[in-house]
Order: sequence, then C-alpha cells, then structure tokens
Amino acid sequence: MTAERTPQAQPPTRPETRRGAVPGRPGLVEFVLEALRALYGVPEWTPGRPPVDELVLTILSQHTSDANAERAFDRLVERFPTWDEVAHAATDEVADAIASGGLAQQKAPRIQAALRRIHDERGDYDLGFLGAMDARDARDWLVRIDGVGPKTASVVLLFCFGLQLMPVDTHVHRVMSRIGLVPPATPADRAHDLALDVFPIGAMYEAHVNLITHGRRTCTARNPACGRCTVAPRCRHVDPAAP
Ligand code: SF4
Repeated sequence: MTAERTPQAQPPTRPETRRGAVPGRPGLVEFVLEALRALYGVPEWTPGRPPVDELVLTILSQHTSDANAERAFDRLVERFPTWDEVAHAATDEVADAIASGGLAQQKAPRIQAALRRIHDERGDYDLGFLGAMDARDARDWLVRIDGVGPKTASVVLLFCFGLQLMPVDTHVHRVMSRIGLVPPATPADRAHDLALDVFPIGAMYEAHVNLITHGRRTCTARNPACGRCTVAPRCRHVDPAAP
C-alpha cells in the first residue's frame, strides 16, 4: 500500500551515518537510483495521516490490496469514531467493520492489542513522539507491539515522519536481490537493516517508492522486462558478474 501515495515534499533528513554503498560495487547505488529516476521520476514526500491511523491502515493492508485496506479503514472509523472505542469494542464488531480488508479475525485483535499497548505505554493514542527519535530506536519501539513487524513499523515512520527507514515488501526485496543490492538469499527481515547501509540519507523514500514501482511494472516476479530496464547494465540477474 505504500507506493501509490503521492506526497509532495522532501522528507526531513536525520543525523544517522550511512555509507550509501554496496561493498565491492562502487557507484552502484547512485546508478540504480538514477536508472529508476529515468523510468519513474522522483516521488515527493509529504507527511500523511496521523501515525496511529497509518499504523492501523498498514495492519489492515497486510495480505490485501490498498483499495481493500482503505475501504476497511473507512468502515472502521465510520463505525467507531475514536481509537478508544476500537480498542475496547467487542472484537467481533471490529472484525465485522474491517471485513472488506480480509483476514478480519486476525487483524481485529491485532489492531486492538496495538491500540491498547500504545495507550498503556503513553496514556493516549498519539505516536507523534516517534518523529523526534532516532529512526532505528523508533522502529524498535514500534516492533515491540505484537503484530507490528519491521515492514509495518518502517512504513509508519517513513511515511508519517520521513524517518530514514526502508520498508521491505515483496517487490523491494525481489528487486534489491536481483540487482545485487543485498547478498543473494538475504531474508526480508535482514534486508530492512542492510538497506539502511545501502541507500544514502535522504534517499529512502525515493528508493522505496521507485523500487516498488519497478517491481510492479518492470521487474515483475515472473518474466521481468530486462530488455527495457535501465538497471540492466549493472544487474546481477542479467549478468552475475555485473560490476
Ligand atoms: S535487469 Fe531485469 S532483473 Fe534486473 S532490475 Fe531490471 S528487470 Fe529486474
């Protein structure tokens, strides 16, 4: 659900130290960013929904389309005007409200548990404090919530605050692996951390959105269109010895 939004400003940069490089392949990261830019342009970032809304929406988006998740989110907030009401409603009623998002019996208790955990820790449902934290510390805070993994946490923090994190979904993972931005057979969970060393500060949003777009339009799971891909000259899927 992350790539379809069209924000309009550059995310703030954070003081993390990153190399922005792949060991043994000088200039590769800059080449890939530029090659994707030539195909898809530079996506612009602007702060989106309140972070707790983004968290709930991101949980709803797991294993379903953006459209279904949005529909489920709209039904949820229509039926329960406050997050406190969602947190303390009967779980079946929450599941009924989000049925259009699929896997409602799993997502409803997950959302309620997340909301209760946030309230227990913070006394409200405001996650704004995360925006002032170091990116990895903020991600660590969120993944302590049951049902919130590194991808969900990174989506919330990148989209809401511009924190320099890389949500690694199936498209990002496939494209990074094929090009050789991460070592072969790197698990997605590990790729979340490796990507932070690969891409330079300030480039995470652009890289994330363009990698997803590339995975959807060009570097598809079956039959990637390597013949018209601007990344091909340095892609290890095309040439295992590519520089
Ligand atoms: S050259 Fe082929 S495998 Fe490599 S990134 Fe492009 S489409 Fe994907």
